[in-house]
Amino acid sequence: MRLVVDLNRCQGYAQCAFLAPEVFAMHGDEALMYDPQADDAQREHVLRAANACPVKAITVEAEDVAQARARAGASCVG
Ligand code: SF4
Repeated sequence: MRLVVDLNRCQGYAQCAFLAPEVFAMHGDEALMYDPQADDAQREHVLRAANACPVKAITVEAEDVAQARARAGASCVG
């Protein structure tokens, strides 16, 4: 899955690092490091982190969400 963090918006609250520590990590007091190509297994955690971010700095790419929906739809049909 692909995600983007708007680092201009990010205030270093670290909610994401708490909720998805495999994907987000604080480096020092304020700098956020993250994996923009996070493993699909982290999806739940990443979505939770995105929802929890107080400044809504985390975006899961729309294309990725569309693919996930398509996959979910396909598995329901099958
Ligand atoms: S929760 Fe949001 S503001 Fe806090 S570190 Fe993560 S991206 Fe930045």
